[in-house]
Amino acid sequence: MTETPYHKWICDACGYIYDEAKGDADGGLPPGTRYEDMPEDWQCPLCGLRKLDLRPLPDAPAVAASPPAAPESTAVDRHGGRRFGSAEHLVIVGAGIAGWSVAEAVRRRDPNLPILLVTACEGAVYAKPSLSTALAHGRAPADLVEASAEQRAAELGIEALTRTRVIKIDPAKRRLITARGGITYARLVLALGARQRQLDVAGDAAAAVLRVNDLRSYRDLRQRLDGDRRHITLLGAGLIGCELADDLCAAGHRVSIVDPNQRPLAALLPADIAELLRARFDAKGVEWRLGQTLARVDHADSALRATLADGSTFATDLVLSAAGLLPITEPAARAGIAVGHGIIADRRLRTSLPDVYALGDCAEVEGRCFSYIEPIRRQAEAIAADMAGEHVPFQPRPPLVRVKTPSLPISVCNGRVAADADPTDWRCVSDDADGARLEHTGTEPAFVLTGSYARLGTELYRSHFG
Ligand code: FE
Repeated sequence: MTETPYHKWICDACGYIYDEAKGDADGGLPPGTRYEDMPEDWQCPLCGLRKLDLRPLPDAPAVAASPPAAPESTAVDRHGGRRFGSAEHLVIVGAGIAGWSVAEAVRRRDPNLPILLVTACEGAVYAKPSLSTALAHGRAPADLVEASAEQRAAELGIEALTRTRVIKIDPAKRRLITARGGITYARLVLALGARQRQLDVAGDAAAAVLRVNDLRSYRDLRQRLDGDRRHITLLGAGLIGCELADDLCAAGHRVSIVDPNQRPLAALLPADIAELLRARFDAKGVEWRLGQTLARVDHADSALRATLADGSTFATDLVLSAAGLLPITEPAARAGIAVGHGIIADRRLRTSLPDVYALGDCAEVEGRCFSYIEPIRRQAEAIAADMAGEHVPFQPRPPLVRVKTPSLPISVCNGRVAADADPTDWRCVSDDADGARLEHTGTEPAFVLTGSYARLGTELYRSHFG
């Protein structure tokens, strides 16, 4: 009798992967526990969502027994520089969830296509949302890594070229120029990600402002925190800022939050819910500096001195910026690819150049960038389908956002509508000691769930969007 293979499931909110083969020791599930056998009240160990919130990860792609030989790959050109890729290669630039998801989705459909993933970083596979909840879960940066680039590349039967920055895209020659040599492609996928918005901060310690947007910078943050209770100044009270603030408080650090808006999550939440979150953070000792920006930061004794735009100053140990993300578009723009806020792509994720796709944080579809795990994985599927000649376009719909603040868990769908709506446009379905459930009465679906109601997000989302 053949054993049914074990499957993996992903939590879209936090990126946690439930592997049936491994189980969940902390949740009392021994190795070999199938999804069907997980109790209905099981909770995601990272974000507290339920079994229902897990989505099946497609099975590991079938890899050709002998990985496809790339005719020109790693050859030497006439100037002595190395050459990678070939006129058959799919080349993916970027090793975030977007880049790896495309490699998986394409490989599942085609076990033989030569694929090369190139990235400026180390390429480790990790769930980025877990960066803002790792402290409270007692996870070290190394615990967040699911696989190294080399491991994942071997599993998928692809090549990975790490620590290699793409300097230029030459679409006429279907070639990338990198510091390590040229890369030839048949098709190109841009999964360039986003960078933190750079704030205009003066002072002799301005260069010490930390911007956490990847595993490497997160390691840096953890090193600076280690072993001590610190005072941390967070710039930005958006999603990442609030999640980091809650996580830092849980680990015993003191936190001040500076934000030009008058309330946290101003672009995502109705005012009264934002005020509730603010009150919960008050109870944790968070100090708010709202309606303010950081003007300068200077070295002072063994710490830093922060000066706000209104002239007030305070001592702090660390300044951490979470001021929002900007899509990385420059390499595409320089290659003549149409760029708006992000790299403009249609529902097939095709850019304005033939055989060049874009997805994830760097891409803009119908005027919007989709930077959460669930839509990015759907974009990767749409690219793989398009390459295979299938018509399965990406459906741009408002994402379900999980605000992973244990002080007040929140699920919000269509935050743009939610933040701008008039209070009379909300129907209060429930509001009790467990939390609140608000639904927007307008034509566009929008809802906000707090407290224990936040766990109903997936059900409600599916009722609107299927
Ligand atoms: Fe989760």
